[in-house]
Amino acid sequence: MTPGELRQLRFSSRCRSSTKADVISDKIEKPVFKHAGSWVFTDLDGTLLDHHDYSWHAAEAALSLLKESGIPVIINTSKTRAEVAELQAKLAPGMPYIIENGAAAIVPNDCCLIADSTELKPDFASRVKVFGIPRETILRTLEPMKTRFDFTGFSELSVDELVDVTQLQPAQAAMALQREYSEPLIWRDGEEQLQELTRQLAEQGLSVTQGGRFAHIAGPADKGAAMRWLVKAAVKIPKLVIALGDSDNDRPMLEQADWPVVVRTPAHTPLIIDHPNCLTTELTGPAGWNAAIHSLLQSH
Ligand SMILES: [Mg+2]
Repeated sequence: MTPGELRQLRFSSRCRSSTKADVISDKIEKPVFKHAGSWVFTDLDGTLLDHHDYSWHAAEAALSLLKESGIPVIINTSKTRAEVAELQAKLAPGMPYIIENGAAAIVPNDCCLIADSTELKPDFASRVKVFGIPRETILRTLEPMKTRFDFTGFSELSVDELVDVTQLQPAQAAMALQREYSEPLIWRDGEEQLQELTRQLAEQGLSVTQGGRFAHIAGPADKGAAMRWLVKAAVKIPKLVIALGDSDNDRPMLEQADWPVVVRTPAHTPLIIDHPNCLTTELTGPAGWNAAIHSLLQSH
């Protein structure tokens, strides 16, 4: 890593935003942590994948470095199992992954990282720990709300309609529609009405999470709780957990990591995480991801 690249990272206590005073480049050159026995949890969209073209090309060097160092990369995303399965095979083969904002953790049968547990249920070539609520239950709860609020759920969209909204490729859009534990909404009502829907759904055990593009309706699960469960279920408990994310749905994961990394996004101002080790990247998306991992590993 060049000195120029090192300067692309900023450390700040409590992740306060970016002023010149926050740049502590000498801190990066000192040991930050012993990386052996660490795990990396990462969000995808806007974090490891570019916000615009969904590419992880800019993070390939860091992914290779993690592989060489024997550090597992565990995807923790709002995407569906169908969407993640293909990416996981390329990015983190054999590793567990978390889908639909913490609704379920999928552990491939050939994964040696996670101990056997009665909480893991067999599911084809994987074992699954479910934290969320089945989508059919969510859809039944939402049905009577349609007359009171103006929204369209993914369950009502065709592949072509979702392509129009997201600019995803048709094959990716088809996988995005295969949801098991959540229902994203295209919201056309105002903020006040969304607050009212949130209140009404909370009475029925459902939560509303504002994502980058949609309001996600789901059960009481989050990325942090699912991450914590996998860590506790490890055959060998990781010494340190690094987590990288860019949006509010990553907050529970970032707050519970030893080294949270807020990856800068072109979509909004960086998150502020109340954590003494929090790091905010200067570069956006996978380029920021790459710089953060290099800095943390090579400072050892
Ligand atoms: Mg994201």
